[in-house]
Amino acid sequence: MIEQQRILTTAIPGPRSRELQSRKTAAVAAGVGTGLPVYVTDGAGGIIRDVDGNQLIDLGSGIAVTTVGNGNQRVVDAVTEQIARFTHTCFMVTPYEPYLGVCEKLNALTPGDHEKRSALFNSGAEAVENAVKIARHATGRQAVVVFEHGYHGRTNLTMGMTAKNMPYKHRFGPFAPEVYRVPMAYPYRWAGGPERCAEEALRTVTDLIHAQVGEENTAAVVIEPIQGEGGFIVPPEGFLPGLAEYCREHGIVFVADEVQSGFCRTGDWFASDHEGVVPDLITTAKGIAGGMPLAAVTGRADLMDAVHGGGLGGTYGGNPVACAAALASIESMEADDLAGRARGIGKILGDRLGSLAEKHPEIGEVRGRGAMVAMELVTDPATKEPAAALAAAVNKGCHDRGVVTLTCGTYGNVFRFLPPLSVGDDLLHEAMDVLEESMDAALA
Ligand SMILES: *Cc1c(COP(=O)(O)O)cnc(C)c1O
Repeated sequence: MIEQQRILTTAIPGPRSRELQSRKTAAVAAGVGTGLPVYVTDGAGGIIRDVDGNQLIDLGSGIAVTTVGNGNQRVVDAVTEQIARFTHTCFMVTPYEPYLGVCEKLNALTPGDHEKRSALFNSGAEAVENAVKIARHATGRQAVVVFEHGYHGRTNLTMGMTAKNMPYKHRFGPFAPEVYRVPMAYPYRWAGGPERCAEEALRTVTDLIHAQVGEENTAAVVIEPIQGEGGFIVPPEGFLPGLAEYCREHGIVFVADEVQSGFCRTGDWFASDHEGVVPDLITTAKGIAGGMPLAAVTGRADLMDAVHGGGLGGTYGGNPVACAAALASIESMEADDLAGRARGIGKILGDRLGSLAEKHPEIGEVRGRGAMVAMELVTDPATKEPAAALAAAVNKGCHDRGVVTLTCGTYGNVFRFLPPLSVGDDLLHEAMDVLEESMDAALA
């Protein structure tokens, strides 16, 4: 394993990375952006090494993907063994056992002890598309209800389900019909205040569905139990259980999009577990397979089995190498109690960000759960005016000092922390020191 130490040998990005970035400009479509253009050669634990020999602390996990860490030995061994045996047959042609193992694990680990089935795909967007296909087919209804600040992917349907225009939707329409957007329970910005947010948001959402869509036309309500790209928005206690109950009463399929929040990230197996919410369908991807592309829809057997044979699938869905990686990742999560580790990381980050917020009132709110933590930056805590420029400056400050950080949020003013659960406490504290330096410098 590469040494778990931040090392800066050049400016960030260094000369070799800058060379590669000019090749990128000449060869790669401009629409494919790079947030921090250091070109990676190795990664392990909590460190990413680049072509100039710099070693950066990773607080992003490639957007919540390498939850078990790059270079996780179980994943490396399982993938190596599977690659040597066979890499692909297509499960729809001649199946193989690792696909079954992943589905059995998903059925057992996702919330609820009812009978479940799973289907495997390649990306989060594909999983969300398939959840909608299944909900529509099973209910015979068409409408899909989604939330402000929601993010569900970049395919046509999931772009339409995503809230934010730039950069995800701008000039990419027209979007698929029968997608309806309702307000999100966002305590920090709820007009009636955080105490009234759960109840008022639930009433607003159900009134809107009733008045503008009609429950009997609604196939699915799709929600991230903690919103990711939209700003790590954590709905107040009571909102998700109330929403799930409303869906149950009206035969609406309640879909939890746990692509970002799932697989130990929030300190439980799934964010839905926190309040005992049992979704009808749950979509997973990102953290599921240690960086290999894999995604899934898991849910009630009666819904999943409603679709005719051949109605679901895809050439690569549930690729055997990705399945081997998923089984090894899940084994690591179980054996190493990574949910517990996520809670420990959450405590460290929460404490450090809490002290930082006392020093800098521009930190309007620190929120999140487990190792899915964010701070929302504002120009003034009284007006809560989003401070996107400050977020960008602090982000750049962290990058320059060798820490991989990410921003998010509809207004671009949320700083999010998604460290691999394999990161050490010392690196986390060092990264928080760097964050503090960068905040101090940006506000000086
Ligand atoms: C990232 C993400 C997606 C899309 O996943 P891709 O693998 O990028 O297609 C969908 N939903 C949520 C909540 C996500 O965070």
